[in-house]
Order: sequence, then structure tokens, then C-alpha cells
Amino acid sequence: MPAIKTLDPKVLSLLQPKIKLIKKDEGAIYLVGPIKLPVNLDGQTIEFKWYCWLNCKEVTEDFERIVAKLSAVNLAELQQSSVLVYGDFEQEESALIRFHSICHTGDIFGSKRCDCGFQLKQSMKQIAEHGSGALFYLANHEGRGIGLFSKALAYILQENGFDTVDANLQLGFADDARDYSDAIAVLKTLRSKPVSLLTNNPRKLDALGKAGLDVAGRVQLWGDVSEYNEKYLQTKIHRSGHLNEEDGMGEDKDCCNND
Ligand SMILES: [Zn+2]
Repeated sequence: MPAIKTLDPKVLSLLQPKIKLIKKDEGAIYLVGPIKLPVNLDGQTIEFKWYCWLNCKEVTEDFERIVAKLSAVNLAELQQSSVLVYGDFEQEESALIRFHSICHTGDIFGSKRCDCGFQLKQSMKQIAEHGSGALFYLANHEGRGIGLFSKALAYILQENGFDTVDANLQLGFADDARDYSDAIAVLKTLRSKPVSLLTNNPRKLDALGKAGLDVAGRVQLWGDVSEYNEKYLQTKIHRSGHLNEEDGMGEDKDCCNND
């Protein structure tokens, strides 16, 4: 498809106020939203505000240039990340944040090998119950950053006795190859007040702290333990340093070790 040169002025006027430029050290993030997103949570309709972002080398306030290039780029081949925001996220004193790493098998298929699908839905519920917060869905974090195909290979190793950490290492990957800097840049654009983090993973607390964010606290997110993910969750605790103050796996887990 050839790239278009100019946009209809009406189309541009609709899009312009919904796009925000976030400059990075190199390149920029273009954040689009908010967009109303009513979600079915256990039969209840909860209305979130949805934002999506795109990384681009070109840094410009001329959004027509960016939009005009999209049709020539196969963006579906490169998944974009997004964030679901609930309540008065900018102004509310207390807000719950979840940085959720994409998990194709857990989030979409409901795989019991991990607890990602459970954590995704549970964090949306907790954020809505809390009254204000944001769920970041990080599309480049599949399999702790190794990608879906490599995760399939890692699962084969796991079926043959390797734990989640060793499987990644055997395939030549770092145990955890995820980067949170873009999500943090987006978070800082949406809110400057302190946030509480929904996670069992101390690395996420570290990443936020190092990025200069004011972290008010941490809320645990364990649950949906089964015979299929017990080993995975134990690995998270014993090898990946996940915190589990509540003792026991009674409410803990994570299969792709994605938390
Ligand atoms: Zn998972």
C-alpha cells in the first residue's frame, strides 16, 4: 500500500488533539488517547480509558507526517503496547499500577502453565475497585522478552526438566530481557503523583524507583495456583527473587515468569 501524502483536514483535526509527543533520548513515543473502552469484567461493564503508543525514530509535532506513514509500515507485524486507565488517574491521590507483560498463551488461551491470565483480569478488577489506576499491557515482553517462538522452545525444555530461568539461559537469552523505560515515560505523561504497584516482582519496583518515580507501595498479586504452574511459581520465588510475604504458594504463581 502506498503511503498517503496528506490527510483530509477533518480527519487530521479529529486526531491531532488525541496524539501526544513524548521525546526520548533517541526518537519519540507517540501516545494516542484517551479512547472510551467499556470492558466486561465478570458480567459487569466497567469503563476504562484506553491509550496506545508507538515508538518512532522521527521526532515531530507534525502528526500528519507520522499518520501519513502508517499505511506503508506493517505495524501488525510489530505489536504495540497500550494502557487501560481507570478513574481520575491524573489527580487522584492514590492509584494502583500494573505493568503486565504480554502472555499469548496465558492471556488469550487461558493457559494454566502460568498465572498471567489470572493476573491480568485480577489486576483490572483491583484497579477498578481501588477507584483509580492503570494497567500497562507491554507487547514486547512475551516470555520475559524472548518472544513467542522462543517461548515455545523454552516450554519444550521445561517439559524436559529445565526450570523457566534455565530454559531461557540455555537458549542464549538473559533470564529477564524486559525493559520498562517506555511504559514509565508514558506513565509520567499520564500522572506525576505517587503510585502503588501491583506486583510480586521486586525488579519492577527497582525499575520504577531508578526511573525517578515516586512509589507509594506495593500490592501483591498471587492466585490461581494449580498443579500445572506450581513449579513455575516456586521458580519465580526461589530463583527470580519474587516476594511472597504471605508464605506458601497458596496464592502465588507465574509461568512464563512474566510478572
Ligand atoms: Zn504467562
